[in-house]
Amino acid sequence: MEDTNDRYAERLLKQHVKPTSTRILLLKAILQRKTVFRLADMEADLQTIDKSTIFRTLILFRKRCIVHTIDDGSGSLKYSVCDEGCHCSIEQLHVHFYCKKCKKVFCFRETRIPPVELPDGFLPDSINYVLKGLCSGCKRV
Ligand SMILES: [Zn+2]
Ligand SMILES: [Zn+2]
Ligand SMILES: [Zn+2]
Repeated sequence: MEDTNDRYAERLLKQHVKPTSTRILLLKAILQRKTVFRLADMEADLQTIDKSTIFRTLILFRKRCIVHTIDDGSGSLKYSVCDEGCHCSIEQLHVHFYCKKCKKVFCFRETRIPPVELPDGFLPDSINYVLKGLCSGCKRV
């Protein structure tokens, strides 16, 4: 398939983000990684873009549900690309897994967070659901 910038511009527009060349470059780098990443990974991938721009663009991407963040308790926030058309609503959130050995974080996109019973009057707007243990690669060795 031809790798044109139109594809990225379209995806940005769909999530109500004006496609600038910097935003297209960042989205391209994010999609190429295919895995959970840290801010430092993007800084390494995009050395031509200054760090504060990358940071600000990631915040915008998060707001518009192009990426979601994962707090695995390690102190450094992780990011992962959302599925197309995501609204990051509670019903659309999925389970994450942190491997204690290789320190990788996995997105289990097909595994929805189980419903949680709350007392009357409590209305959550975000959930950070991270399981910890060994990933399939580390369990084998
Ligand atoms: Zn999302
Ligand atoms: Zn592992
Ligand atoms: Zn995820």
